Amino acid sequence: MINIILFGPPGSGKGTQSEKLIEKYSFKHISTGDLLRSEIAAKTALGIEAKSFMDKGQLVPDEVVIGMISSVLDANPHAKGFLFDGFPRTKAQSEALDKLLANKHTEINIVLALHVNEDELVKRLLNRGLTSGRSDDVNEEIIRARIIEYENKTMPVADYYNQFNKVVTIKGEGTIEEIFSSLCKEIDKKF
Ligand code: ADP
Repeated sequence: MINIILFGPPGSGKGTQSEKLIEKYSFKHISTGDLLRSEIAAKTALGIEAKSFMDKGQLVPDEVVIGMISSVLDANPHAKGFLFDGFPRTKAQSEALDKLLANKHTEINIVLALHVNEDELVKRLLNRGLTSGRSDDVNEEIIRARIIEYENKTMPVADYYNQFNKVVTIKGEGTIEEIFSSLCKEIDKKF
């Protein structure tokens, strides 16, 4: 089993690259952002709670997303591997994920960290906001809040996995194909 975390700030291209990676490698894609947006669309209690944080550009509480991930892992016992996108986003989520995977006798093999400079991120997100229908993409203030949450709470995830030498940084600027090829090279090197 191969388990990968696709790591990076909002707008770094995780969603775009995930789609290409799951097509090539048949991983089970787990995007907490997508899972939360489905809960919001279905107007579940979890979705209503999550929306109040997401609309402000803040992270949803750890216990909410960890519970969601635990259910998805249990629901996919035969997965060839998981591609985590937008999760873990805090050190506590990383520790919880490691425990959940250890219970299943597996682990995170590699953290692929996309690097993109901040001005480019804001530009991409505002541009995505024109068509995505995502309320957190339309306003520059909310976008900046998400980037600050990333710097304060999510960057420590890279430090956490760095202690196990699992992090590889990838340049997240260039064409979609160039970035995809850098990601594949790292995955193929490892397996
Ligand atoms: P992006 O990477 O562009 O920020 P996502 O779709 O991954 O987009 O996430 C959108 C929002 O959903 C985040 O700003 C946050 O509020 C919430 N969210 C997604 N994943 C998590 C997570 N693992 N922990 C806490 N909040 C999350």
